Amino acid sequence: MTTGTDDKILKRLEKWEKKEGSLPKALEFYRGLLGIQSRAKSRICVPKLSLTEKTISNRLSHGSPILRFDDLSIDWSLLGSILEEVTAFFASYSADLGEVPENLKHLGSRLPLLKEATRAWFEGTPFPPQIMDSGVNEVLLDHIIHASLRPFLINHREALISFVDRERWRRGFCPICGGNPDFAYLDKEPGARWLLCSRCDAEWLFQRLECPSCGTHDQNALAYFTDEEGLYRLYVCEQCRHYLKAIDLRVTESEVLLPLERFLTIDMDNQAQKKGYSPSSSAPR
Ligand SMILES: [Zn+2]
Ligand SMILES: [Zn+2]
Repeated sequence: MTTGTDDKILKRLEKWEKKEGSLPKALEFYRGLLGIQSRAKSRICVPKLSLTEKTISNRLSHGSPILRFDDLSIDWSLLGSILEEVTAFFASYSADLGEVPENLKHLGSRLPLLKEATRAWFEGTPFPPQIMDSGVNEVLLDHIIHASLRPFLINHREALISFVDRERWRRGFCPICGGNPDFAYLDKEPGARWLLCSRCDAEWLFQRLECPSCGTHDQNALAYFTDEEGLYRLYVCEQCRHYLKAIDLRVTESEVLLPLERFLTIDMDNQAQKKGYSPSSSAPR
């Protein structure tokens, strides 16, 4: 993934809109969000990390991701202002996404609480009761924090990816931030499967015949569905009932922009969830 992927996506969506007259609503939403994230990224400095090379290689060799929450280098007031912009944007889609409660609109200026909520999101623990007690929808809060933190996490990934041997990591979670994969691709040559982190967009190699969520190799439990052209795959595991979307790069000549593919394949998520499967999830620690 190059630094300019988001800009390429924005350009492609603009072309698409010119050609079709308008974008489908889901993509229009995605473009708005990406615009906020792309502008935010240009305001974020290179992360000042206090991790030594020895700590990084120790963590990786023990199968732990490089970053723990306290290692993150974040300008909290900048995150707060990005979160306020993201929250206002979500509120402008309230007919589709549900009302954004008033206290969430002010979370960006309550820095200690924002930090606590961000820690909970990063570590996968419950959100602070001060937020949840006011009836905030947890999924909405999760999306808002994710969208606001994404430019920071991408910055961290860019600073750290060279420390990772991406062909040897081979775990079901991200070597940089510990996030779950939410997309995969089969590379052109030799068709190996790479996973994409849902949080920082890192990519790493993973066995094709293993479930990234529960680690089973039982071939009777693993299957995939494909579309007519054989371009997309929906990997499912009957043992843990998780799914993972993928694209087969051997089938396409055009340049594939993976973060955009997440949104172009939302129907696959709907289908998988209707069948009772959940998104990929594996505990890193
Ligand atoms: Zn990650
Ligand atoms: Zn599984």
